[in-house]
Amino acid sequence: MDDTQIAGDLSRVLFTSEQIAERMAEVAAQIDADYRGKELLLVGVLNGAVMVMADLSRELTSHCRMDWMAISSYGSGTQSSGVVRILKDLNTDISGMHVLVVEDIIDTGLTLSYLIGNLMSRNPASLKVMTAFRKPEAARNAVDVAYVGFDIPSEFVVGYGLDYDGHYRNLTSVATLAPHIYS
Ligand code: 5GP
Repeated sequence: MDDTQIAGDLSRVLFTSEQIAERMAEVAAQIDADYRGKELLLVGVLNGAVMVMADLSRELTSHCRMDWMAISSYGSGTQSSGVVRILKDLNTDISGMHVLVVEDIIDTGLTLSYLIGNLMSRNPASLKVMTAFRKPEAARNAVDVAYVGFDIPSEFVVGYGLDYDGHYRNLTSVATLAPHIYS
C-alpha cells in the first residue's frame, strides 16, 4: 500500500519507498565493507524490523544468517519503560558469532539497551546495531548504533514495518498520521 492510497490517513510523508530503498542499499554497502571475510548473523527485532531486514539482507553481497527475537516493552501508551520481556528468543547460539541487531526505530534507546545487555551476556564475537530510523532522544542518550538509515524528528511515524494499532506496517513509505486517526 502506498501513501496515495491512504492519503486521508496521513499528515506528512517523511520518506518515499524510493528514498528508503536507496538508503538501505547505501547502509548495506557499508556493512558489506565492514564485515568482509566474516560471516554475519542478522538478528531482526519483531515485528517492526521485518521490512528493513528483508531489504537490507537482500542488498548484502555475501552470505549471512538470520534469526529473530520478539520483545515487549512494558510501558504506558507510546512511552517505553526499558523493562523488557522476551516473547520469542533466538534459535541460534550466538557465542563466537558476529551479530548485527536490525531494528526498525530507536526512540529513547531503552529497549535497545536491554537487548544489548542480554545479547552481550551470550558472548558473541562482536555485536553491533543497525536501525532504519533514530529519534533525537536516542542520539542524546549516546546509544551506540553503528548504522543509521535516517535520523528523524521526535514524531510518531508509521510505515515500512512501523504500526499504529496494528495498521500501516505495509505502507511502503514512512509518514506521520493525521490527527483524526488518533482521536
Ligand atoms: P525505545 O525503547 O527506543 O524508546 O522504543 C523503541 C520501540 O518503540 C520501537 O521498537 C517501536 O516499537 C516503538 N516506537 C518508537 N517510536 C515509534 C514511532 O515513531 N512509531 C512506531 N510505530 N513505533 C515507535
